[in-house]
Amino acid sequence: MYLSDQHAALTLLEHSANINSGSLHAEGIARVQALFETEFGKLASSCSKPPLPSQAHYLDDGSLTEIGGSHASLFQIAGNTDLKVLLVGHLDTVFPKGSSFNRCWREGERLRGPGVADMKGGIVSMLWALNRLCADDALPRPDISIVLTPDEEIGSPVSAPLLHSLAQQHDVGFVFEPTMEDGALAGERKGSGNFYAEIRGSSTHAGRDFFNGKNAVLAGAKLAAALSEVSDEHTGTTLNVARIAGGSAMNVVPDSATVFLTSAYRTVRHKRVSPSRSSHSSTH
Ligand SMILES: [Zn+2]
Repeated sequence: MYLSDQHAALTLLEHSANINSGSLHAEGIARVQALFETEFGKLASSCSKPPLPSQAHYLDDGSLTEIGGSHASLFQIAGNTDLKVLLVGHLDTVFPKGSSFNRCWREGERLRGPGVADMKGGIVSMLWALNRLCADDALPRPDISIVLTPDEEIGSPVSAPLLHSLAQQHDVGFVFEPTMEDGALAGERKGSGNFYAEIRGSSTHAGRDFFNGKNAVLAGAKLAAALSEVSDEHTGTTLNVARIAGGSAMNVVPDSATVFLTSAYRTVRHKRVSPSRSSHSSTH
């Protein structure tokens, strides 16, 4: 498949988007990863599979699951200049296994579907551009590294150390997320992180022995209220108390709670790089 052919690129995008790769669907992610490893392997001078650790991860309901234990995909394309460029893509989407939004369809010039823009479309765009660049050795070309990771939509918990390490080895980095609605390129994005606070208290009967109980849900609520004070409109720092899970029956002082927090810092700047918008993909 020669991806400078638009039809081939769209076919690859449709194929990849029709494979569910929700962040917790390891099998689907592996299939998408294998597909893109084949395509990037045709261009790259070297390919490697940096292992990713496994670790516990909180689900939305407060329960824990195991994530990671797989690998990232890392490709190198040798250049003819001193510049080192890192291109970053992610294989996962926000649509879980079993989601009803699981297939692509075309609407005129637009392709709609899960991950079509974010970011299987970004990865295919990357391939398209690299095909063009590599087709002509006379063109100045930086040393290019491409890294594809499986866990971006849940905050890159297992890929973050690898991304951090690669970033330090390169001069410039591009992340192939969709542009803003008006076509502007995000020149800078907020840093963000997901945090979980586990609170353990002491359970008693709320009617018979209330004052000997230690209420974990109440402690979690107080913690959330105190931490939320860090939000500052002037600096752009935010701390979102997304969820508090815990408690059981109405007559029980709850002995456990989990507080889910999302934090971001710094304001966002956008740079317009093109006055026109692509008409071949849509944001999903
Ligand atoms: Zn994305």
